[in-house]
Amino acid sequence: MRATGGSVLLLGVGGLGCAAALALTASGVQRLGLVDSDQVALSNLHRQILYRMSDLGQNKVERAAHHLRALAPELQVELFRERPTESRDIAELASGYDLLIDGTDNFRSRFAANEAAVHYRLPLVHGAAIGQRGQVCLVPPGGRPCLRCLFADPPPQEVSCRSEGVFGPLVGEVGWLMAMEAVKWLRGMGEVLIGRLLTIDLESARRRVVPWSVNPSCPVCPQVTGSSTGVN
Ligand SMILES: [Zn+2]
Repeated sequence: MRATGGSVLLLGVGGLGCAAALALTASGVQRLGLVDSDQVALSNLHRQILYRMSDLGQNKVERAAHHLRALAPELQVELFRERPTESRDIAELASGYDLLIDGTDNFRSRFAANEAAVHYRLPLVHGAAIGQRGQVCLVPPGGRPCLRCLFADPPPQEVSCRSEGVFGPLVGEVGWLMAMEAVKWLRGMGEVLIGRLLTIDLESARRRVVPWSVNPSCPVCPQVTGSSTGVN
C-alpha cells in the first residue's frame, strides 16, 4: 500500500500522542509536528509507548522524535516544547499542516483545539481515554458539528488519567484509532467520524457509534458561516 504522505500536528505526546505518532509514522505520513512541554516520567511509561527507561527526565518531544526517526529516517519532524491553551496559538502552530490531532488530557486544551478547528478551518481528530472508557471523533474545518455541539460545557469536575487511572492498552487503542481517522482524512478514503462519536467501553467490551448533529446553541459553531464539511 502506498505511503499516506501529508502532515499532522500532534498536540500532546502522552499516551494518545505516542500511539498516534507511531501509527502515523508507520503509515508513511511525511511530516509530524510534536507539541509537548513535559518530560518523560516513570509513572507514564505503561501508556506512553514511545519512551524507554533511558528516556526518563528528558523532553518528550525530543525523545519521541528520536524513536520515530529510528522507525522512519525520512520522516520530517518539527518540535515545539510548548503547551498552548489558546485557539489562536494552536492555529498558529498548525499553520501549514494538513490536520490537527488533539492528544491533550484536559477540557481547556480540548476546547481550545476545537475552537482552532472551527475558527481557523482545520480538520481536527479528537480522542480521549479515562478509566475504562475511550472516544474518538473528527471535527471538520469550520465545525458543524464541533465538539462543543456535543459537550456544551466542561464537566463540573475535571477527571484525568492521574485522578481516575487508565488502562494503558485502552490509551493505545484510542491513539491508534485517532491515527486511523487522520489517515482516512489525508487519503480521502472511507467515512470519517464527522458527527459521529465512536465510544469504547472496556468493561462491557462494547463499541458504539453515537451520532450527533449541529447544536443551534453551540457557543462556537454559529460564529462561523459557510463552513466546509467535505473531505479534502
Ligand atoms: Zn459546534
